Amino acid sequence: MTEMNSTLAVVLGIRPDVIRASVLLELLHTSPDCELRFIWTGQHYSDNLKDVFFRELKVRPPDIELHAGGETDAEITANVISRLAPLLDTLRPAAAVFLGDTNTVMGCLAAAQLNIPIVHVEGCMRSYDWRMPEEKYRTIIDHLSDVIYAYLEAYKEQGVAEGLDPASIVTVGNPIVDVLERYYFDRKRYFDSLASEAFFAAREVPRGCFYLMTCHRRENVQERDSLGNILLLAEALGDKVYFPASYRTQRALKEERLTLPGNVILTDPIGYEEFLVLLTNSRGVLTDSGTVVEEACVLQIPSIQMRKSTERPEVYDVGCSVKFDPSNPERYPIPTILAKFRPLEGRRWANPLGDGKASQRIARDLLTRLKQGQLDCRRTGRLQPRMKRSFREDGLPEVG
Ligand code: UDP
Repeated sequence: MTEMNSTLAVVLGIRPDVIRASVLLELLHTSPDCELRFIWTGQHYSDNLKDVFFRELKVRPPDIELHAGGETDAEITANVISRLAPLLDTLRPAAAVFLGDTNTVMGCLAAAQLNIPIVHVEGCMRSYDWRMPEEKYRTIIDHLSDVIYAYLEAYKEQGVAEGLDPASIVTVGNPIVDVLERYYFDRKRYFDSLASEAFFAAREVPRGCFYLMTCHRRENVQERDSLGNILLLAEALGDKVYFPASYRTQRALKEERLTLPGNVILTDPIGYEEFLVLLTNSRGVLTDSGTVVEEACVLQIPSIQMRKSTERPEVYDVGCSVKFDPSNPERYPIPTILAKFRPLEGRRWANPLGDGKASQRIARDLLTRLKQGQLDCRRTGRLQPRMKRSFREDGLPEVG
């Protein structure tokens, strides 16, 4: 009997990847059924965008670091693919597991070139906003994947509508719920102890009477008017707005010579613990981050989602988030946004994102497939009804 390949390569590369995958990584690390090779592409590499999350969430550091940086998306993607390819070729894992929709997931092309099965966590999310490179990345990786873990049934339906094989898509729930349960709710007393007077005094925000803001998306940062409209919204809130801004945003603010309103406190990106203390003690959050809007929803904090489109419409379904499209202030006037946002404070809503068991479901399903050698789903032919025709014989008489 041939021995089963039990090596799994997990490929991650940015801040929210560590957060989202923290529980899953531990389950895989501690499983006797799998030999995990955790690869970090290096899209994020500084302490405050990478290492602090490994320390705080107690995630075992990567086995292999690719240092696949670059100035442009093209450079980063090219580096991810060209550095990952020889590594995967040596490791020959049973599958390469990717998460999300970043330059890092384009490493799936290296796996594709080597015919290594591809697993996509966070599959079938769609904004249907084709201006977003992320939307293209998600579509590409889903269509190359052998196994897809979709967070919600509605996402699975989106994938099936695109022609993906329903049998290759497993609905698991959103792992951010698992992470918050384990890291925040189970340690609520610890977080309460961090939220001291001194904590807020040091940041010059009054506890319970300020807003948190994050902003990093190209559509907001690369458009001067959009970024300016975001600042106008922050100013209109009146209370202090604590703004740990991505470096890209800080650069844009400088280059565009935009002046920060007096109530906005700008800092470098901060660690997860600090971020959660601020979020849970704020009046609300203004964000263009997919993860932050989910976290706010789970933590019962109202949000303003500063985006034209979202792949997470559930936050609108449960009424915990207000839409603000910074590129279209006529359609989304600031007084209207505030009139919708203010009444959300103190309101509660159901969590539509998951039951806290998503990581367990992913790990269980992955390990079962690994043991049974079932990660290579595409080549079974289940998906391709025309496969018989393409593999058919030519039908010509054998003469001679
Ligand atoms: N976050 C953090 N510190 C910050 C800003 C964000 O710890 O200064 C966390 C936040 O709680 C969330 C994740 O980083 O879990 C979101 O990252 P980002 O907005 O970069 O990614 P996106 O969700 O847009 O993919």
